[in-house]
Amino acid sequence: MNKRTLRLLALVAVATLVASSASAFVLLSPARTWDCSPNVIVDDRGESSITDADGGVAATVAALTSNQAWNGAVSGTLLTAEAGSMANYTLGDGIPMLNFQDPINACKGSCLAATFTGFYQERNDGSFQIFDADIVTNGRYDWTTQSEPDGCSGEFYMEGVQVHEVGHLLGLGHSGVSGATMFPSVSSCNNGPASTAGDDNAGIQALYGNSAPSCSGNPGGDPGGGCDLGQSGDSCTDNGDCCSGNCKGKPGSKTCK
Ligand SMILES: [Zn+2]
Repeated sequence: MNKRTLRLLALVAVATLVASSASAFVLLSPARTWDCSPNVIVDDRGESSITDADGGVAATVAALTSNQAWNGAVSGTLLTAEAGSMANYTLGDGIPMLNFQDPINACKGSCLAATFTGFYQERNDGSFQIFDADIVTNGRYDWTTQSEPDGCSGEFYMEGVQVHEVGHLLGLGHSGVSGATMFPSVSSCNNGPASTAGDDNAGIQALYGNSAPSCSGNPGGDPGGGCDLGQSGDSCTDNGDCCSGNCKGKPGSKTCK
């Protein structure tokens, strides 16, 4: 049994992994949600150990957006995903990206992949809004997808691991339910986490209700789509103040780009 931990690498403490009696899902603390359904940019380089047609890019995009995963947990589209460049991979910039590498060397040892979940801010009503979450992947493991022609042997399924990470991106912590996507570990050649369980879906519904947000796109991608943060030209103090996630200028006179 080659069991490895899908470790949540969090910028906030995630010590309260306590299952309640009613259900076992755990929300990140404080509870937080996206205002608009995020569009996750998936590393268009692919992962070097995956031998399907494109290094797992299409398989990962398909898994993230499948109705077997988070989009099946609510009505509407909870998230979209598309292949794109990692050239501007930056934590906290308002553009959620899934990197098949780990440029900041954050994911070590038994960590297969990690999500930076620390980019959120308080809304006027006291609730919390996620404005970015970025994923890194540990290239020291052998990865596969269900599109690989030679099957699975001692490898880890990229689809299941990344559906788990995107659960963190959406606001979930780890579940104590064995078989849930948000269970903190997975065996090699087990792609079960690619399909969310009832416990996972209940966690998403606790955050978002039964319907996906009525707007879509990243904070910077759809200025008319419901982002309540600063629009282009508005004054700001940091990136989290802007729908674009990009606050630039001299201190005291910064504006959203
Ligand atoms: Zn995790």
